[in-house]
Amino acid sequence: MFLKPLFDLFFPQICFGCGNRISYKVPADFDNLRQQKLWEINRYLCPACLENLVVLSDDICPKCGNPLLASGCPHCTKTKFVFTAARSVFLFDERTQRLVHGLKYYSFLKIAPVLAAYASLYLENHWKWQKPDIIIPVPLHKVKFRERGFNQSAEIGRWLAEFSSIEYRDDIILRNRYTRTQTSLGRKERHKNVKNAFDISPKHSLKNKTVLLLDDVFTTGATCNSLARLLIDKKAQQVFVLTIARPS
Ligand SMILES: [Zn+2]
Ligand SMILES: [Zn+2]
Repeated sequence: MFLKPLFDLFFPQICFGCGNRISYKVPADFDNLRQQKLWEINRYLCPACLENLVVLSDDICPKCGNPLLASGCPHCTKTKFVFTAARSVFLFDERTQRLVHGLKYYSFLKIAPVLAAYASLYLENHWKWQKPDIIIPVPLHKVKFRERGFNQSAEIGRWLAEFSSIEYRDDIILRNRYTRTQTSLGRKERHKNVKNAFDISPKHSLKNKTVLLLDDVFTTGATCNSLARLLIDKKAQQVFVLTIARPS
């Protein structure tokens, strides 16, 4: 094809996971857009790194989705989660970390639909509950949004909504005032910070709705838990959390 060599010249294909050069053959045809996006992970990860991706479907905490340790779940012993359950598609290892960071910090927005396609597949194959009615992305701190220009969770959420035919809403959770970014805060402070930071738009009814909160990475779960509490207060029937990755 005429354009292909030019494309390679400008975007040499290097594996996000290990830095090796990637060579691949683009299939002639795809059945649908999701299938194409699932395949596109081959542009970012070499076959060896792809094979080592860990999907978190078994041996996880039934509540928060953390990989189970012999001592139980380190999160659920510390926090009383109010969401029905949280799940993550992948283990946050060096490969998935670099994919997520590529999207987040290097603005590789083309990674968003690829990650969303895998999230959609996860909903199809590993979701034990009813299909969510609405996908809501976890909002990004205003300062970070200004710096970054986009919210990575919204970018992924929009595509996930399309691939899984679920309503997408980013106008339901509102940030109601300036808050500190979470990074420098301890666990308790984080909870308080988040509780004060958000509001639910009065324009929407969540009655009898099953909500899926979408975020890129699950760390302590504090933000998602506080958001879930707000949504439940506004009569959401169930709130689930789905993230692309989480560390063990
Ligand atoms: Zn690799
Ligand atoms: Zn747990």
